[in-house]
Amino acid sequence: MRSVDDIEVAGRRVLLRSDLNVPLDLKGSGAITDDLRIRASLPVIRKLADRGARVVILAHLGRPKGDDFATRAAGGPSLAPVASRLGELLGKPVAFATDLVGPSAVATVEGLDDGGVALLENVRFEPAETAQDDSRRSRLAAELATFGDVYVGDGFGAVHRKHASVYDLPLLLPHAAGDLVVAEVAVLRRLTQSPARPYVVVLGGSKVSDKLGVIGNLLDLADRVLIGGGMGYTFLAALGYEVGHSLLEADQIEPVRGVLAEAKRRGVEIVLPTDIVAATHFAPDAQSVVVPADAIPADREGMDMGPDTRALFAAKLIDARTVFWNGPVGVFEFPAFAAGTRAIAEAITKVDGLTVVGGGDSAAAVRSFGLAEDAFGHISTGGGASLEYLEGKTLPGLVALES
Ligand code: ADP
Ligand code: MG
Repeated sequence: MRSVDDIEVAGRRVLLRSDLNVPLDLKGSGAITDDLRIRASLPVIRKLADRGARVVILAHLGRPKGDDFATRAAGGPSLAPVASRLGELLGKPVAFATDLVGPSAVATVEGLDDGGVALLENVRFEPAETAQDDSRRSRLAAELATFGDVYVGDGFGAVHRKHASVYDLPLLLPHAAGDLVVAEVAVLRRLTQSPARPYVVVLGGSKVSDKLGVIGNLLDLADRVLIGGGMGYTFLAALGYEVGHSLLEADQIEPVRGVLAEAKRRGVEIVLPTDIVAATHFAPDAQSVVVPADAIPADREGMDMGPDTRALFAAKLIDARTVFWNGPVGVFEFPAFAAGTRAIAEAITKVDGLTVVGGGDSAAAVRSFGLAEDAFGHISTGGGASLEYLEGKTLPGLVALES
């Protein structure tokens, strides 16, 4: 993979695919609630602008709905507030085009001086961006390609998507990987190629079906897998335990039994919760009790791991030399049920070795606890992309950059 240091950019138009998909307060002011991804995108933008490139940024935001550009643009979300925040963080104005391949984009790109930065509107306002049909995507990519002399792929959070701006566009232009993509891939490589041992993986989050693929592949790599959160109840159910109203994917019980058997065969230790904070219902102020993991009352719902499990998981992390953590181990958004996730985060900050946090909600949890980001080796900007990499899948955005 070429990096931006290997390409000539001075005076050239650089089409830069970034990941600026930040969470917005959509029920309230629409404000950006967390700008990690914007900050993580700054280094390459600064570097390209400092070297005299005309930087034209492509990015997506949210999941716009509708059959055409006009409908999607009317429904939003627009990248306009992201352009303002980017300008504040860069310390210079960012020109904003209100379309992708229309008159505003043409004028905005033509108006750029060397060292100037522009952002085009939400690339997903063009339905062809995410089309399954290769020729529809290629047509959009060809139109976008007229705005650039070179392409830089830096949107790590989107590299697992076969989308026009991620996959088809780099095939049409000289291309290089941006600094964020280079850094993320380097860390993931360290997690898959001779990691220091013991290598401990912590998995949580809501859906076991999302994560069974990665568990399968991690059995080849990890020494220990600690499983909690909503997905943990399907594991407890696979052991034959009652899980009450807790999250459960009944159709995953058999596959989970397969994973447990495979782990045993390979000598990988799987650690499950031994006690659970069980609430009357899913609410921030629900009344709760701590119960053994094999005795969750039928009318209760598991919301967090109990104190014994917090201590157990911390003990299983203490000697680790490599840690990968994805997925909160409880409903951390409700303070009453955040203690388990906090205990995991704190235990990981004490590990002497490479520690990686992947996943939007996991990273948000770390920040909500006020833990210093540099207490972790790496906080990935791409949850889905990191998981698919660790699953051993090929990521279309990386394939295109490597070509
Ligand atoms: P990430 O974004 O880090 O990959 P996920 O999206 O997989 O994480 O999962 C995050 C969600 O899982 C959080 O919203 C959290 O509330 C939820 N969750 C964790 N534990 C439970 C539980 N016991 N019951 C219901 N939801 C849970
Ligand atoms: Mg998530």
